[in-house]
Order: sequence, then structure tokens, then C-alpha cells
Amino acid sequence: MARDPLHDGHGRRISDLRVSVTDRCNFRCQYCMPAEGLPWLERAEVLSFEETERLVRVMAEMGVETLRLTGGEPLVRRDFPTLAGLLTRIPGLDEVSITTNGFLLERDAAALVAAGIDRFNVSVDSLQRDRFYEQTRRDALPRVLAGLEHLASFPEAHPIKVNAVAIRGFTEQEALPFARFAREHPYEVRFIEYMPLDGDRSWKPDQVLSGAEIHAAIHAVYPLEDAVRDPHATARVHRFADGKGKIGFINPVSEPFCDDCNRLRLTADGRLRTCLFSLNETDLRGPLRAGATDDDLEALIRGAVWAKELKHRVNDPGFVQPARTMSAIGG
Ligand code: SF4
Repeated sequence: MARDPLHDGHGRRISDLRVSVTDRCNFRCQYCMPAEGLPWLERAEVLSFEETERLVRVMAEMGVETLRLTGGEPLVRRDFPTLAGLLTRIPGLDEVSITTNGFLLERDAAALVAAGIDRFNVSVDSLQRDRFYEQTRRDALPRVLAGLEHLASFPEAHPIKVNAVAIRGFTEQEALPFARFAREHPYEVRFIEYMPLDGDRSWKPDQVLSGAEIHAAIHAVYPLEDAVRDPHATARVHRFADGKGKIGFINPVSEPFCDDCNRLRLTADGRLRTCLFSLNETDLRGPLRAGATDDDLEALIRGAVWAKELKHRVNDPGFVQPARTMSAIGG
């Protein structure tokens, strides 16, 4: 059943949904969570497959066309490929992608491709084993790279994006290795500026290594053509001038892209977030479990979206970091 498209109070049409299917993760990335992890949601707090499917279906009826499945780490959710298969069958969704740390890709790539996932974002912050360990607190680089290679063997799985979080004092040494990686492999590497959503709440503006700085370092060695960015995409993507691959920059701090934001987020415990940095959330799980109809859910979602934030305030004095961390939002 088609419903009126979703618009926010600033006239932006909302067509992209990111769903965190779990807050749990098998990594402990320094910029995301403490070494000991975080208090996980209880099983009963997490939306079931059917509840997730229903909420996504209602939002697809309101014009959501692209869906990204995230975590924590989505592949640690039991039977995740089954959930993916349920969601890729929802009418109206043009694209269903996942963001993963790649550790379980060797195990799950075939099932995910069979479930209809047609785009993969794999988070890799360093191509050097010891530095990868330093950042993720897991000695897992060889396994992640093997998972990537296995995934790349499926023609349906392309494009494959490799995302590296850019942090001053760490990523400078990764820029050229990643440029070579993008030139030598069928992956599109993107650098994402470090954002204030960390579990330790220790983010500082001077820790942000901007996309422009990394671009300059790479361009000096491997010349890059001018960027292409489609309105709703978050990345500025540059082709290497000699045609050997592409590299991208996602600069939410130094070059915010909120003007044409079309994104909504649903947390694993059924909260609707209208912005990555929202300080407020709308509970959908409670009404859903209390017997709300699809029309009731539509009204709740439409009300929340109408009040969607115009932009983030990360660069503003007095910025307040959300209580919920990246691992429980899912990027
Ligand atoms: S920070 Fe918020 S408003 Fe800006 S692009 Fe991200 S989700 Fe959209």
C-alpha cells in the first residue's frame, strides 16, 4: 500500500533508512567503544525480525527507497542473513546494503548475496596488522582481508566500499597505503572524518583529520580528478587521474552535507533517530508491541520526521554529544 512520501519540516524528502540490527560487536575500536565493551541490550529489548520487517515496510510505503543494515556489527546477530532476506523482499526498496567490519564475511558472504544484499561497506582503518590491532583491539586484519577477497568473488556484491575512519595522529600513515589499495583492488576506499559519537566521550575537534588534508597527501603522489558527489550521497568520490580506481572522502565535520540529508535511523531497540546527532528519539517498539496499527506507526514516524533537525551542531559552541554512542546507532 503506497502512502504519501515522507518530508521533514525543511522540505527535504526522506528516502534513506539505516537500521541497526544489534548494538553488539566483536571488535573494540578505540574511537567507538571502551575495551570492556558497553552494557548490551537485553534480547527482549531488541526488535524481532518480524517487528523490524514491519517497521521497514511501513517506511518503504512512505517512500524509503534505500536501506542500510548496520550494528554494532550486524553479522554477529544470529541468523542475520535470514533477516536480510526478509527485508530485501520489501516492495519499494531499490537497494539494501550493509556496513560490516568484515570479520565474518568469509562465513556469511554467500548467504548475504543470496539474500539479495547488493552493496557492501566494509570498515578497515589500517592495512598494517599491528596498527589494525592497535585501533580495533583485535588481531583480525588477515581474516578481514580474506573476507573482502571472498566477497569480491561474487559479481553481485559490487560495488564494495572500504571505509576508514580518519583520526589525526593515526591515519596520516594510512593515506598512501589505502590509495595503493584502491588502485590495486576492485574496492572504493573512503575516508570518514572522526565524529563525536565515541563510547569514551573523549572526542576533540583537533583529532579530526580532514578529508581535504588526506586528499592533498594522496593527490601529491597519485593525482586525483575533481570530485563527483550526487546530492544524497555522503562521499565526495575522486577518480585517479590515470584511471586506476577511485577514492572518496566523507567529511561530516569539515564539510557538513546536512542541506540535502534524506536519512533516518532505526535503532536495534526500536527508536527512531532523525539525525545521527539527535538528542531526542521516538519510541516505535512500545506502540508496536502495544498493538499500534500501521496507520498509527505512520503517524508517529511522520510526526518525528517533521521535526527532523536541520543540521548537526558539531562545530557549534555548546555542542552536546548524544547519549547514544555510534555502536548503538550504527552510522
Ligand atoms: S548530521 Fe544529521 S542532518 Fe546532517 S547529514 Fe547527518 S543525519 Fe543528516
